[in-house]
Amino acid sequence: MINLKDLEVWFVTGSQHLYGEETLKQVAAHSQEIATSLNGATQVPVKIVFKPTVKTTEEIYSICLEANTAKNCIGIIAWMHTFSPAKMWISGLKILQKPLCHLHTQFNRDIPWADIDMDFMNLNQSAHGDREFGFMVSRMRLNRKVVVGHWQDPEVLEQINAWSRAAAGWHDWQGAKFVRFGDNMRYVAVTDGDKVEAEYKFGYAVNTHGIGDLVKVINETSDASIDKLISEYEDQYELLAGLRKGGAQNSSLREAAKIEIGMRTFLQDGNYKGFTDTFEDLHGMAQLPGIASQRLMAEGYGFAGEGDWKTAALVRAMKVMGSGLPGGNSFMEDYTYHFDPSNPLVLGSHMLEICPSIASGKPSCEVHPLGIGGKGDPVRLVFNSAAGPAINASLVDMGNRFRLIVNEVEAVEPVHALPKLPVARVLWKPYPDMKTGCAAWIYAGGAHHTGYSQNLRSEHMEDFAAFAGIEYVLIGKNTNLYQLKNELRWSEVYYQMNK
Ligand code: MN
Repeated sequence: MINLKDLEVWFVTGSQHLYGEETLKQVAAHSQEIATSLNGATQVPVKIVFKPTVKTTEEIYSICLEANTAKNCIGIIAWMHTFSPAKMWISGLKILQKPLCHLHTQFNRDIPWADIDMDFMNLNQSAHGDREFGFMVSRMRLNRKVVVGHWQDPEVLEQINAWSRAAAGWHDWQGAKFVRFGDNMRYVAVTDGDKVEAEYKFGYAVNTHGIGDLVKVINETSDASIDKLISEYEDQYELLAGLRKGGAQNSSLREAAKIEIGMRTFLQDGNYKGFTDTFEDLHGMAQLPGIASQRLMAEGYGFAGEGDWKTAALVRAMKVMGSGLPGGNSFMEDYTYHFDPSNPLVLGSHMLEICPSIASGKPSCEVHPLGIGGKGDPVRLVFNSAAGPAINASLVDMGNRFRLIVNEVEAVEPVHALPKLPVARVLWKPYPDMKTGCAAWIYAGGAHHTGYSQNLRSEHMEDFAAFAGIEYVLIGKNTNLYQLKNELRWSEVYYQMNK
């Protein structure tokens, strides 16, 4: 569903005519070599496309204009091999709509001590050429990522990896459509928000369909397609005895499969990248979509429960950003706590809908009563999740701006069996510690719903927030509540003034 190698990042080198043809030829050859090497690097998930050196105001303007309209171009990496007087960059940067990464590198890693002469100095000027460019980007108050180091340095490649993945997520949002089946869960605040502002800021549209529109499609599902999907369930999961053919709850499984097929058809027909539903609005449906939402998430659709369109869109972006990496991304909710002082933990889960992309081992397919919503018992996949570093991300509407909050966490193996808990779950420790991490999240207004990722770092999310020009709050190893509260207070003033 998501192939990052279809996407292009353009490698643009700045220079000027001052140095003569011979130097410009070498500049072009060097940038081509760097672009080719980045394109071939295993850490770089997208296509890196070499572009001819830009040497004038007009050439810079043209390349930026072209990047804006090129369908597969997700951003520009800029590098000034020589000096490129930055007034030439004003008109281009003014119109550039795609993410910008400033690679502050130089062609040679080392100074050639014995051979360095003025020809070498004339050619290898990025140490100061990139500063002139950097000044202009700062002078214009533009967001960009600055990556420093030799272009073969694995840390540099990893930063380009993170930035290009974030740019791919951002690109995916532009023009994306998300569907909301029913409205927001009644009276809930944080899952609601300004969909008009979101479309303006983020580029994706959220529109509602009454549940009847979906039910109509679900009801058109054929028995043969249900049989086919059930055999897929049998192959992929441990099916509870009662769910199997002839079992007492086999009809629940058939209903679940029917819902999944109908939802997939609806999403495909409408060209949607994600969806949200709510247990309060299931009129005409036999059960709350559990396994359907789980499996659609695993296919790459964004999802969040209870009308939470912001988290659904965020989960989709995270899935695009993490595409091809080991580990998964899921809708998540901080569900309940273990306040044991020697081993405090958060148990993350949802009523049903955790994505099996984060499962460790073969999920078990089960049916149990839900307790809310008043519908039939929903089928769901139950599993544990792997230990390791992870993040939780939440996008909230603060009224005058959006804020992206990220908490770095450490997922742990389940300490005990949970034989009576009929839902997928994850256990984690928030950084910097349980009390500070949870307090910081609450001060920042972070939602109970998040996008949970095993394969993204806070760096991806920070780059992503910068593309959107929204507030970014990191709760990580160095978070201190005194500083965090000040950051939130000071950002309030910043966002009031920066309009
Ligand atoms: Mn929820």
